[in-house]
Amino acid sequence: MSAAAAPDQRYVVTDFHIHIQPWRQLKPAVMDTMRRGKEQHVEFLLALMDDPRMLLAIMDEHGIQRVGMVNYPSPNIMGFGDDTNDFAARYAQADPLRLLPYGGVDPVTTRDAAGGVARLLELGTRVLKLHPPHQAFAANDYTRGLDALATIYRTCEDRGLPVLVHTGTSIFPGARSKYGNPMELDDVAIDFPDLRLIMAHGGRPLYMKEAFFILRRHKHVWLDLSGIPPRSLLEYFPRIEELESQLLWGTDWPSPGVESMRKNVDQFLALPLAERVKRAALETNAQRLLPAR
Ligand SMILES: [Zn+2]
Repeated sequence: MSAAAAPDQRYVVTDFHIHIQPWRQLKPAVMDTMRRGKEQHVEFLLALMDDPRMLLAIMDEHGIQRVGMVNYPSPNIMGFGDDTNDFAARYAQADPLRLLPYGGVDPVTTRDAAGGVARLLELGTRVLKLHPPHQAFAANDYTRGLDALATIYRTCEDRGLPVLVHTGTSIFPGARSKYGNPMELDDVAIDFPDLRLIMAHGGRPLYMKEAFFILRRHKHVWLDLSGIPPRSLLEYFPRIEELESQLLWGTDWPSPGVESMRKNVDQFLALPLAERVKRAALETNAQRLLPAR
């Protein structure tokens, strides 16, 4: 008998939101924040960012079928360039069914937003990530003249590329947390009705009321649960079961404070939620949004 308990395999889990990124590009102050609390593991994590076989082994051990690898350029705040998109696509080649590359176009610094989205599609990118606090814009700034942002939304709407938008604060040095309010997605959901729009983190820790309002008003907007400690999920969103068809499981691993993908799944499974809600979040909704291909 093995010492470690086998992971709960009742669900074919997609972790919609983890961070496999070219950490070697991080600005020094950002890297210091990343290191905090896991000084022991930094060398391991840096190696993980270089070697997809390490990630696949962890996924096997933790009973995780698929992961979405969040990447986006943030040259001025985090340090990531456009080549972060190529990094994700290359990494995913190790097992394209299980490793889903995400990428981005920085709406503030890009000179060719439509070309940037087209390039992501050529790379096989599954989701376009926008990070308002790390790219210094509001998610509805196209209403105030940021035309590249309208082009990104419209092109993704036309081409069927889902768009994931960070909401909530960010602890990294230089991040502009005022852009984390999910209320900005009201405009986006109205102006781009066929866009597959996903709200990351439910506005945690400041804007959960706004997040819940947007998600109830716009039933075509999805909620990526990453970044919300599972044990506190029902305190943040007491009526989460009303969002059953919109929930996407995610952990944000290995971001500060997230120990393992498995631990979060187990904490989520322990919550007093209907079995069908758990299955929708962990398994079926992600299969609907991101079918195997
Ligand atoms: Zn994240």
